[in-house]
Amino acid sequence: AGILNFCANNYLGLSSHPEVIRAAVEALEKFGAGLSSVRFICGTQSIHKDLEEKIARFHQREDAILYASCFDANAGIFEALLTPEDAVLSDELNHASIIDGIRLCKANKYRYKHMDMQDLEAKLQDAQKHRLRLVATDGAFSMDGDIAPLREICQLAQKYDALVFIDECHATGFLGPNGRGTDELLGVMDKVTIINSTLGKALGGAAGGYTTGPKPLIDLLRQRSRPYLFSNSLPPAVVGCASKALDLLMDSNAIAQSMAAKTQRFRSKMTAAGFTISGKDHPICPVMLGDARLAAVMAEDMLNRGIYVIGFSYPVVPKGKARIRVQISAVHSDEDIDRCVEAFTEVGRKHGALP
Ligand code: PLP
Repeated sequence: AGILNFCANNYLGLSSHPEVIRAAVEALEKFGAGLSSVRFICGTQSIHKDLEEKIARFHQREDAILYASCFDANAGIFEALLTPEDAVLSDELNHASIIDGIRLCKANKYRYKHMDMQDLEAKLQDAQKHRLRLVATDGAFSMDGDIAPLREICQLAQKYDALVFIDECHATGFLGPNGRGTDELLGVMDKVTIINSTLGKALGGAAGGYTTGPKPLIDLLRQRSRPYLFSNSLPPAVVGCASKALDLLMDSNAIAQSMAAKTQRFRSKMTAAGFTISGKDHPICPVMLGDARLAAVMAEDMLNRGIYVIGFSYPVVPKGKARIRVQISAVHSDEDIDRCVEAFTEVGRKHGALP
């Protein structure tokens, strides 16, 4: 029956969507294999400008700028935006690329406890002495499938005159009523100033990242952001693929809804079977097991039953919190989901994770 992949970030299944593939082939044929240049020399084609415009429209922001990856977008933003007179306040569980981006900047650094609003408020009070404050958080955290309390973060930001930055890699395309992301889900699209996200997960899965937000900020990034200035332009096929993925999502949210229904099916069946699934309503479904060895042997046995999943243990997650991270995709059928739950139940019983 083949092996089912349950550990890809291909949330909407668009990497194998025929229209996305065709758009990539057409862009390759029409615009060439690559630009052999950074954007500001001879690396900008009409498709790059069109994609930036489309990204801004999708997120209802003024402008957008493309990068080779979201890692680059995160590496390039803090240094360009913040000076030694400013402050950045970052959730302790933010993605490695945010941490690295913050390391590169000379602003005063505060790290608040994971999603702890009391701690964030205390740090914002301390940061009042600085010229500008930027709160940086993942919209959805990839290890736990939990969602940042953006409403509360935005209220605090308003109270303490701070800007809000979110990394939407695990939200763009599928969270919120129209798949715009965590800010749409939590009703704060007009309060979040800056969004960084990836084209390498739900939006076709090829590669690429971006920043979207106010036009003056994007203009500043085009002048000062080092990964943008000093790294090659996105290849046309990659641009074509992401552009078509956005068209599909702006036409209809049926794909995102189908993924949400399958996520619900997996989460409720696994919980009924006796497993603990971290997070809520997110296609990242971490099956919490505690013991690192248990997670590793169960993942291996799942593969023997045709289900590809990966065990995560320390140092990727805290000690004693080992898990198997399952990721649901719109391309999984209901039968695939049921096959995965059945395999987990058998393997869980065999290894003592279930009674
Ligand atoms: N931010 C988060 C939260 C991620 O999960 C990832 C990818 O794993 C990135 C940034 C980097 O994205 P990209 O693969 O586009 O560099």
